[in-house]
Amino acid sequence: MSLPKKFESKDKSKERPCVPVREMARDLLTKWGFDPTNEAILPDRHPQYRECARHGRYPISMVDEQDVVRYIAPVCSICAAEHASQRLMESAAIPRRYIDCDFDNYVVDVPGQQTALDVCWDYAEHFAERASKGSSLILCGNPGTGKNHLASAIARTVLSMGRSVLHVTAYDVIARIRQTWQRGIGNSTELEVIRGFAEADLLIIDEVGKTFGSDGERVHLFEVIDHRYRDMKPTIILSNEGVEGVEKYLGAAAFDRLCQNGGLLLFDWQSYRRGRTGA
Ligand SMILES: [Zn+2]
Repeated sequence: MSLPKKFESKDKSKERPCVPVREMARDLLTKWGFDPTNEAILPDRHPQYRECARHGRYPISMVDEQDVVRYIAPVCSICAAEHASQRLMESAAIPRRYIDCDFDNYVVDVPGQQTALDVCWDYAEHFAERASKGSSLILCGNPGTGKNHLASAIARTVLSMGRSVLHVTAYDVIARIRQTWQRGIGNSTELEVIRGFAEADLLIIDEVGKTFGSDGERVHLFEVIDHRYRDMKPTIILSNEGVEGVEKYLGAAAFDRLCQNGGLLLFDWQSYRRGRTGA
């Protein structure tokens, strides 16, 4: 960071000789009606800096072309950029509706819910080990039984470990890949998009089975699941279908890859969405 021109080129000959700078500053401040002990607002006391423990010093003030001191938000710009991208990642990882869903506030009324809670908690808590094996999870069954709640709780835990999580719907995956077919829209190729979905440490694919489930859709989902399988990266599938429905929709090959080293939880109890926090 270079000093402002004004500061560098200050003509020393115009200063009164033999008067300490500090004294001059006090005179000036008094003259302009400021607190004379506050020398910090004088233009030649700027730019001022603060220290970021991680990124070194950064300016918190500057002198503009009219010699006016401008103060800049005392925030390290690199830290601010990091926080912004973290927030983006979190919003992509946990749908707004489930942002407050955690393991602590998952309501257990029936034994099946306790099992689901235990399995998901264990998966999140030992994510490093699960991730190294590419161990996936399928949460399927009745709507309103807490699949999204538990998936969001897993996402939150994995994010807190400093790992990346992406939460998408099956439709997002299909639409994003098909978008690359249209010329002039975006610059990504199909493979780049698939690689993008394969990048996240944990990918959650929601609403599997909601679209029609044509062969074309099946191929796109398989490409993403297979890419992650080969990279040993875990995927969580959420579906309101039963086990057979999920297998039929994804195709046997993708289903087999997900089940290998992975777990399958069937949410077969009644919906508690009405009047409860579970979703
Ligand atoms: Zn910083």
